[in-house]
Amino acid sequence: MDKKRVLITGAAGFLGSHLCDRFMKEGFYVIGMDNLITGNLKNIEHLFADKNFEFHHHDVSNFVHVSGELDYILHFASPASPIDYLKIPIQTLKVGSLGTHNLLGLAKAKKARMLIASTSEVYGDPMVHPQTESYYGNVNPIGPRGVYDEAKRFQEAMTMAYHTYHGVETRIVRIFNTYGPRMRLNDGRVLPAFIGQALRGEDLTVFGDGSQTRSFCYVDDLIDGIYRLLFSDYAYPVNIGNPDEITIGEFAEEIIKLTGTDQKVIYEPLPKDDPMQRRPDITKAQEILGWEPKVNRAEGLKITYDYFKTLTEEELFTKEHNTFDGYIKK
Ligand code: UDP
Repeated sequence: MDKKRVLITGAAGFLGSHLCDRFMKEGFYVIGMDNLITGNLKNIEHLFADKNFEFHHHDVSNFVHVSGELDYILHFASPASPIDYLKIPIQTLKVGSLGTHNLLGLAKAKKARMLIASTSEVYGDPMVHPQTESYYGNVNPIGPRGVYDEAKRFQEAMTMAYHTYHGVETRIVRIFNTYGPRMRLNDGRVLPAFIGQALRGEDLTVFGDGSQTRSFCYVDDLIDGIYRLLFSDYAYPVNIGNPDEITIGEFAEEIIKLTGTDQKVIYEPLPKDDPMQRRPDITKAQEILGWEPKVNRAEGLKITYDYFKTLTEEELFTKEHNTFDGYIKK
């Protein structure tokens, strides 16, 4: 009856759909919103029969209306991989900026608490390692990643302004590389790329010499950190990620072992502005939220591989799984 009501944008995406599951499990009434450009209804179709879930097919870069009360808003709508930014750069900028503005306006009107999905990309190609929240970053505003990085930086600024000047309750999570079931096979990110290649019997493409590093967090750990942050009273940015750092070359070897593929690694040019090192300093999350990751990479990769193995042949061999083309023509 008196369920708390939460709006989750990007609900049909990788992280958004896992958030929907968590909030449903915790007994909330969940309103999912997505324009389905990179999201997929398959990720949330199991929720449609539940009376505590509703779905709105809407682009939050346009005015957002939700009837009734709202207690919480989690803004997770955005393309989130470098190849997406290249294909839909303007939409990427708009959802981080205009979309955030619309949702902050909604939060203000409804007196809701709002949490935004920021990113380790605000640190750019970092000159400080590991990255602490106090580091201002090294972002190229006009590079290929600039549309995402700057939208997210603007998003943080806009969110702090609503917090400071309008008294809106806000939370900011800076998300580091995360993986798990429901990642889009062809979103270009390294884990689905490698696993997809292994399953198709193709060689694994390492960009550059493979010495660049990332630190991969399993999705359940990330969702738990976000959940704790929302219900904390801390309004400043908090890194959530797994500090277990690995080179991309070593990561490719791990995937080869996991999948048992007899394919080899091939090397391709490193994309422009690809960060050379990334690892979160999670001291704040540990101290403020009592959070740290629990799932190690071996366990997390196994679960994720099992998920990708359930994809159909058609899904595995279809190169595109999104609706960019239709959207761009509109
Ligand atoms: N990468 C790679 N091969 C691929 C896809 C990505 O070597 O097929 C590299 C990429 O250049 C980057 C790292 O893997 O250094 C992580 O890339 P991803 O796109 O997953 O995330 P991000 O760069 O945003 O952290």
